Parts: sequence; structure tokens; C-alpha cells
Amino acid sequence: MRKCIFVANSIYFMRILFGIALLFFSTQAISQDTYWQQKAEYEMEIDFDDAKHRYDGLQELTYFNNSPDTLFKAYFHLYYNAFQPGSMMDVRSRNIEDPDPRVADRIVQLTEDEIGFLRVLSLKQNGQPAKFRESGTILEVDLAKPILPGKKAKFNMSFQGQVPKQIRRSGRFNKEGIAYSMSQWYPKISEYDHMGWHADPYIAREFHGVWGSFDVKITIDSAYTIGGTGVLKNPQEIGHGYEEAGKKMKRPEGSRLTWNFTAENVHDFVWAADKDYAHSQQILKDGTVIHYLHKNTEDLRKNWGKLPEYVEKMFDYASANFGKYPYPQYSIIQGGDGGMEYAMATLITGQRKLSSLVGVTAHEVMHSWYQMLLATNEGMYPWMDEGFTSFTSSKVMSHLFNPDEDTRRGRYYDSYIALAASGREEPMSKMADHYNTNYAYGAAAYSKGALFIAQLGYVLGHENLDKGINRYFDEWSFKHPSPNDFVHVMEKVSGIELKWYLNYMLNTTEVIDYAIAGVEGKGSQSEISLQRIGNFPMPIDLYITYKDGTSEMINIPLRMMRGSKPSPDGLNFTVAEDWPWTHPDYTLTINKSVGEIVRVEIDSTRRMADINPANNFLNLTEELESNPPN
Ligand SMILES: [Zn+2]
Repeated sequence: MRKCIFVANSIYFMRILFGIALLFFSTQAISQDTYWQQKAEYEMEIDFDDAKHRYDGLQELTYFNNSPDTLFKAYFHLYYNAFQPGSMMDVRSRNIEDPDPRVADRIVQLTEDEIGFLRVLSLKQNGQPAKFRESGTILEVDLAKPILPGKKAKFNMSFQGQVPKQIRRSGRFNKEGIAYSMSQWYPKISEYDHMGWHADPYIAREFHGVWGSFDVKITIDSAYTIGGTGVLKNPQEIGHGYEEAGKKMKRPEGSRLTWNFTAENVHDFVWAADKDYAHSQQILKDGTVIHYLHKNTEDLRKNWGKLPEYVEKMFDYASANFGKYPYPQYSIIQGGDGGMEYAMATLITGQRKLSSLVGVTAHEVMHSWYQMLLATNEGMYPWMDEGFTSFTSSKVMSHLFNPDEDTRRGRYYDSYIALAASGREEPMSKMADHYNTNYAYGAAAYSKGALFIAQLGYVLGHENLDKGINRYFDEWSFKHPSPNDFVHVMEKVSGIELKWYLNYMLNTTEVIDYAIAGVEGKGSQSEISLQRIGNFPMPIDLYITYKDGTSEMINIPLRMMRGSKPSPDGLNFTVAEDWPWTHPDYTLTINKSVGEIVRVEIDSTRRMADINPANNFLNLTEELESNPPN
């Protein structure tokens, strides 16, 4: 008895000690302790019949439940079922005001042998049959046995697929004649995270997957060349440009080949196949192998032949500025219906002018960072992959074509300001499929999303933004960051509170509009009156130019920021008293007479997304008034 009390007491004592110890660790240590994610190891064997455009598949999935919850159900995505008349994708596309022309009314016209399908024929969990039913693009599974926290289960499944006529992203014979663009082609277990299951039906966009590994064997007519996710394990059996020069080939007998690709630490697997692919390889300085696969025609050879010099610069720049690319390979494959990112690969249409080919490649390459590594839930937070990708790919493009350009205010600003003026803006927090127009989705996810990040450079200073982007990569790659995870990293690097920024940007369509109301002389001093017209509060950078040719910058932080930026990109400046967001007006007193002032301007860098910049400056001399600088 005594002993028991002693043990209990010492546990109690240890808990206090542990609690005290925790207080001394940063919040980062705590969040790293509480973060968890599931894991999926796929092994698949595919037997592909190119005469029927069908395939039979076997899947063995080892699923690790790292959550603190007991799982009674599981869900798998059957994306190809979207390409059937009457599917949610079909009906949505025929009812939305501005349909994606790639989908529009094309699904409803598909015949039985043109539709796509993915059918699970049998499913066992640890050898026991599990009950399952199809519900559109989702397979609902009643587990044979619950999966306890910290335990794993093995699913063995047989399935059959039919490759749809190319409608959206994947399919057979795309506009450029690529035989098979194989994305979203296998039964893929839905992600279960801190929010629960994400069994999202496939309507338009986009994806969320479980981190894990793939070992995929595809048996197909040997005339096809395949490109895809991962490393080809049997290049000497395959050839097709994968073989090691000088090493003996071990080509098997017969008219079919079995391609074996493996990939570690990814959350999806894509492949594409065509009989006319030219395949070439490039090895970057750090050893990353880039594969290029495109139709072997003269005009394609010309532009695609120039791509490697740009791709090398893209990877160099991105690895130096946004975190090092960690995978052994990346495949740039002609296929799909525009450009779409996948793990270690992209499918892009290839018949493009060189500038467009480089542009789409830069965008998809940057998705390797912002989606394939920083794997946000695109259905919930589409701006986190498209916004980051637009923000960084615009920097990559400047680096390639216009290295001296000031990239702090990208073109996405004007696109957002047009959205805000259109009356069609919807909050960026909406789920991707649920926007009322494709326009509002696109402008929010790509443009306002990019602006979200760029404008943080204005709020926190450029140095903090760069630091934060790298720390975000270090803390959150190979995970599923949410909006707050990114913003909290920004808070940690800057010491500035940003909840208000996240909330206004994400959950509202409030706009920023500040104005200079007037400048008044008070003897040897002057009073500058500022006015907040829009409901979205922001810190203010005020630029003042004097008659003697000097100028100064005054930073007015918001009170709720609990701090101010370290320096406005290297300029000398002073920090004025903070501005409470409740107050529409603010008066700044400076120790110069009004006669000495030439011009007063809010944010001359225009990184603050003020929807009405016309009232952001005041010229105090006549010559300037008629000719305002821009
Ligand atoms: Zn994108």
C-alpha cells in the first residue's frame, strides 16, 4: 500500500516536472508532438488492355492509423466514375453559370464504351471480407474489424477500370492525341486527419491524399512508352530511353512489358502512355533526373528541346529560395488537358509556343513544392496550393526572363482588384467545388491567394516573408498544413500577430481602401490626416517627399499587430504610434512646415491591395498635381 502511494506520488511529481519542462519548450515542440497523419503503402499490379481501354488491377494497401481515433469505416475515391452521364461532375458542369469548356456538356454525351469507371470487385481487410458499396465517386467500406489507434490494417482489393474519353485531367486520346493520361485512375483511400474523413466526391477540384509509398507494376503492350511518378526499377528490361547506356539489356520474351515504378513519401501516383513518345533525360547538378516525354514530331522536338535549360534554372532557383527539392526524379509529360501537378510529375499539353510551354512548366514545377510537398487539402483550401504556386512561379518567371524586375507586386494584384470590383467575389474560405462561379474560384484561389502571401511582405517586411516561406517548408513539408499553420509560422518569424489578417483575407470579402484626407500646417509642424474607408484594416506605410529633395517613410502599425516590421526593405524609416482598428481616422504630426512638403503617399510600392489607389496620395505643388506619378 505504502509503495503504491509512493508510485502514484512520483507519477504526480513527474507530471508537474513534465509540465514545467513543456513551458520552457517553444510552441513548436508542442505542435510537433500533437501533429499526426495517416500512412498508406500501396502495392498494385495492373493488366492493361489497350484494345478495350480497360485494365484489371490488384491492390494491396497497408494502412496505418496514426490518429488517436478508432476507425469503423473507410472510404476510397473512385474518380473515374465522374465521367458518366448524370454524375455530380456532369450535372454541376451543366448547371454552373460559367462552365469549364473542357467539361461543359461533354460528359452527358459519352456512350457506354466512352465513359470512365472504376469498380471494386472484391475487398478484404486482413483476410476478412469487408462490406462495401459504391456511391458515385466514393466507395464506402464498413470495416471487417475496427482499426484501433496506432494499429495498421491490410486491404486486398481487386478492381477493374475503363479509361474515359478524355474530358478533364485524365482519359484516353486527349486533344493532342496522347493515348492514355492516367491520373486519378486507381481506388485511392480518402484522407483521415484532425477533421475526420475527407470522402469528397469528384466534382471539379481537387485532391487530398494520404502520405505514403507506391510500388506499381503496369503490364501493357510493349509498343507504349510510359512516364510517371517515381523511379523505374527495371530499366534494363524496359528500355524506351530508361536503360543505362553500356549495361546489358534483359528484355523479356513476348509482346508485353511490365513496368515497375516505386515512389516514397508521396500522396499520389500518375502515369501516361503513348506509342509515339520521344523520351529524353536530363540530370541536374544535384543529381535530380528530369524525364521529358512528348510526341516525336518536328515542331514539338523544337520547343521541348529548349525546355531543359529553363527547367534547370527553375529547379535551381526554387531549391535555393523555397526549400530543396527532395525527390530523385521529376517527369514532364505531354498529356492531360492543360497543366496539372502530380507527385514527381506533371501532365501538360505540349503544342504551345515556347513562352507558354515554359510558363506552364514553371507553374507545375512549383506545385511540387506547394501541393506535392506542402500537401494542403485542396478541396478545403484551394488558395494554399494555387496561391503559393502563382506567387512563386511568377518569381521564377521573372528570374528566367526579367531578372531585374521588382517582383513584389505581381500581376495577380490587378486580377484580385477586378474580382473585388466585380460584385462576384466569394470568401476564400469556401470549399473549392462550392463557389458559385468558376471565375470567382479562379480569381480567389490563384490571384487573391498569391496576393495573400505577397501582401504579407508589406505587413511584415520582405525579410520576414522570405524567412517565413523557408521555415514553412522546413516545418510543414511532407505534411498537411492548414491556413493557420502557415500564418502561425509567419507570426513566429516576425513576432507580429496575424489572426486578423488571416480572418479578413480568408473569411470575408471586405476590401482595403485608405485615403489621405488632408495636410494642414500648424506653425512649424504639419498634421497629415488619414482615413480608413474600407472595412479591412491594414498597417500604413506613409512616404513623404520634401522640397529639399529628401524623403522619409513612416510606418503606422495596427495596434492588434502587437509589433511592427523591422524595416521596409532596407529603407530608413520611423514607426509612429499604432492605429486601433476601431478608429476610422488617424492624425500624424510631423516636424516640418506644410510649405516644405511636396507629396504624401500611402504605400508607394502598392503591395497593399488598396482597391482605390486614386486617393492614396496628395501633391502639394501644382506641377505634380496635374501629373501624378504612378
Ligand atoms: Zn495550379
